Amino acid sequence: MDKKGLIFDIQSFSVHDGPGCRTNVFFTGCPLKCRWCANPESWIKGKHIMFAGNMCKWDKGCRACEHVCSKEVIMFKEHEKPSIELNVCKECESFDCVNICPNNVFKQCVKDYTVDDIVKILRRDFNNWGPDGGVTFTGGEPLLHDEFLIEVLKKCRELQIHTAIETSAYAKEEVFLKVFEYIEFAFIDVKNMNREKHKEGTGVYNDLILSNIATLKKYKWGGRVVLRQPTIAGYNDSDENAYELIEFMNKNSLYEINLLKFHRLGETKWNQLGKEYEYHENGDVTQEKLEYLQQIYLNNNIACYVGDNTPF
Ligand code: SF4
Ligand code: SF4
Repeated sequence: MDKKGLIFDIQSFSVHDGPGCRTNVFFTGCPLKCRWCANPESWIKGKHIMFAGNMCKWDKGCRACEHVCSKEVIMFKEHEKPSIELNVCKECESFDCVNICPNNVFKQCVKDYTVDDIVKILRRDFNNWGPDGGVTFTGGEPLLHDEFLIEVLKKCRELQIHTAIETSAYAKEEVFLKVFEYIEFAFIDVKNMNREKHKEGTGVYNDLILSNIATLKKYKWGGRVVLRQPTIAGYNDSDENAYELIEFMNKNSLYEINLLKFHRLGETKWNQLGKEYEYHENGDVTQEKLEYLQQIYLNNNIACYVGDNTPF
């Protein structure tokens, strides 16, 4: 039987996720749980839904979804929009609510794709990429889908499609290296050099991430790595963190970093997934602070790009 990948989105015409114009393939499931995550719908490795309650027209008399759910997950009370127990939806096979709602309140987040499905989309987009573009595998965490991903990557190599990955590098070393054999360009997130702070912000220690990055030098991997740091005030915007990262980069012959500005684009999704978002007001980092940190890297011979101002 054909291998299948669980994918929550595919976006064409991306210009900030690797060289040139690219098609981004978003895998679902993530071993990290970053407290500021912009794609929390990617955390669940399986099909599920998001519920955009603010778009519900219950106040205009709609009750179209009232009896559609065989698991009786959708609850109606007097004078209130329906509520829903999202945890139960992970086991759903029908997703009947998605089809019945006339206002797109229910959104199925994840679909199965075969290797051929992905290749067909890449072939469709091929002429839009220009000479430098290609495909970027992102997520969620693409390394959680290593067997499927390697099949797709082999096809990309056959078709001479440029391959990039955005990853946390949080995977077994053998999985990491097997996938990287077919990758030409990698963004790897290093969220904090302090292992306790890394755990506090993401739910996991950074040891595995740092040791996987270090293996790239050990095995003379031939691609290009750009480290990425979503920069969050009070969490990883200190001079100390920058100097520790510079030392690590020098030791591992890495010379490029992209500092991303914290944003709240994921906040609505946290609500639609029934999760509490804790960065309503904190986390903002100023452009001046980012430029100050950038100067520290530049002074230490590391190419540092801020936000979308990158050469790729
Ligand atoms: S996803 Fe399935 S279980 Fe959840 S509300 Fe819709 S029909 Fe019911
Ligand atoms: S069908 Fe959609 S708009 Fe109508 S009550 Fe249900 S969730 Fe609301």
